[in-house]
Amino acid sequence: MEEKDTNQNQHTEDEYEKICYICRRPESKAGAMIRMPGNMCLCHDCMQKTFDAVTKGSVDFSQISNMPFMNLNLGDLANMKIPDTAIPEKKRIRKKKKEQKPELDIKDIPAPHRIKSSLDDYVIGQEKAKKAISVAVYNHYKRVFSKNKSQEGEEDVQIEKSNLLMIGPTGSGKTYLVKTLARLLDVPLAIADATALTEAGYIGDDIESVISKLLAEADNDVEKAERGIVFIDEIDKIGKKKNTNARDVSGESVQQELLKLLEGSLVEVPVGSNQKNALTPMATVNTDNILFICGGAFPDLEDIIKQRLNKTSSIGFRAELKDRYDDDPDLLGHVTSKDLRAFGMIPEFLGRLPVVVTFQKLTRSMLVDILRRPKNAIVKQYIKLLAMDEVKLIFEDEALEWIADEAMKRDTGARALRAIMEEFMLDIMFEVPKDPGIGTVVITRDYLDKSGGPRIETRG
Ligand code: ADP
Repeated sequence: MEEKDTNQNQHTEDEYEKICYICRRPESKAGAMIRMPGNMCLCHDCMQKTFDAVTKGSVDFSQISNMPFMNLNLGDLANMKIPDTAIPEKKRIRKKKKEQKPELDIKDIPAPHRIKSSLDDYVIGQEKAKKAISVAVYNHYKRVFSKNKSQEGEEDVQIEKSNLLMIGPTGSGKTYLVKTLARLLDVPLAIADATALTEAGYIGDDIESVISKLLAEADNDVEKAERGIVFIDEIDKIGKKKNTNARDVSGESVQQELLKLLEGSLVEVPVGSNQKNALTPMATVNTDNILFICGGAFPDLEDIIKQRLNKTSSIGFRAELKDRYDDDPDLLGHVTSKDLRAFGMIPEFLGRLPVVVTFQKLTRSMLVDILRRPKNAIVKQYIKLLAMDEVKLIFEDEALEWIADEAMKRDTGARALRAIMEEFMLDIMFEVPKDPGIGTVVITRDYLDKSGGPRIETRG
């Protein structure tokens, strides 16, 4: 009732919800409205239905004869300016401030050592991976920007794309590294999950949806999106399924469909939406300059590598001990494309990911470093939070080691650190602001293993 009243009144002010002229749903239910002449609003669904009906040629005019906008020439609709007010405030995208300068400017193409030293501020360990990625990114952007200014008379050497494949246990920093890289270079980044992707026409996300995401991250700026990074996680889950006769719509077929994206092709994607329909404008994105990074944990890959290494080393005079590689911490570092093929990745797919980077399992001391060393380390964040209450927070070294030990037990890499930290910091963050007399809080190992409490020192 209330909604109807609102409609009857002149609703020039923004305080009222707009109501769809056809289905009568308010904008809180039907989404953003398109305002038509005569202060009339239409929701996207009804607009779409009307268009569908018109294009199919079976529109029932008796149903919509009372709609003033039907008197318009449909051609006019294309030229009609949809007022900004049709988009709710929180959905509007604010323009980025021009002055913001990224830490590294890709136009100047920072040298690999500069990229790596910037990464060092955030990502602990994984030296080999950081080095390989810095070089790959350097080469990639050199390729991107050299294309525009190849000199006349110069021999036209085509630099090939250097997409990356990252292999490493869960929680070892694969996603974090890519995120940090994209932020440092200020390029748009889309993160997609390979498990959600399916062959076109089947339930699930189309392969092209990853480009759609990238375009959204680039504020719908096609040129910016074309220099972006796409990270496809859980790539090991689209390995070829073994012993199956059924059509593998989420495995091998996805690999097949990804080929053209990885290689560089023109993809048509909807702008400002993840659905293709008559109303959403389409944009053509060239994926040639997009850096694709695929990542996955590849469980059992270590066994495949071990088997191969053992086989080659147990033949002939120089036969070695069978369990020689059992304790090799960098077993993944010996990976070859043959091993990946044995895992279920198709050769064409691997061919388009020429740079393979492996991540090591995080050790106890790396976990301690992750807690306190990065620029935005968890420990630094808590210290800053309590500093706002003018309380000094100190973590004893043994306490951090205890947390690292706990995290090792959970076997989810650095991901467990935050959860463990939250568990016992909750009480501290709740109790400390209560008492203005508290000056310093020391987190001790005893507090963590529940054999004591934190050491509290009063002000003064
Ligand atoms: P995955 O390898 O499974 O993609 P993530 O990159 O998502 O793991 O890691 C989870 C979280 O753990 C990150 O958000 C980051 O805070 C932390 N982390 C993991 N590895 C590192 C590392 N090497 N250095 C710093 N932080 C890390």
